[in-house]
Amino acid sequence: MSSCLFCEIIKGNLNADLVYEDDQVVAFKDINPQAPFHLLVIPKAHIATLNELESEHKELVGHLFLVAKDLATDAGYGQRGYRTVFNCNSDAGQAVYHIHMHVLAGRILGWPPG
Ligand code: AMP
Ligand code: ZN
Repeated sequence: MSSCLFCEIIKGNLNADLVYEDDQVVAFKDINPQAPFHLLVIPKAHIATLNELESEHKELVGHLFLVAKDLATDAGYGQRGYRTVFNCNSDAGQAVYHIHMHVLAGRILGWPPG
């Protein structure tokens, strides 16, 4: 078993509530949702934090956002609104070291975040 939880989900070794998959990314429901709609969109490639992003990942990062937008708008949150978040390292509260975009919607999301 790899030590990366999200790589295990990608490989199918760990169950997740998948809502989308293509050749580059997977999206699934967060196990501990912080809003009525809370998905994680992750690259299939293991990238530990945003700090490891390189110019070769430009298209992949753009794709993550497009998938997030499609999933949020398909769920009916386009007009009402939604939030995308990447946490990077400890001050931001990153708990899983495989980059993931949180997509949150369905309630008023306070600003600034905690
Ligand atoms: P972060 O704090 O940005 O690293 O967020 C990690 C997120 O992963 C948290 O919101 C967790 O609830 C979520 N999470 C952890 N394990 C799982 C899992 N097995 N399936 C789905 N979501 C998970
Ligand atoms: Zn990983």
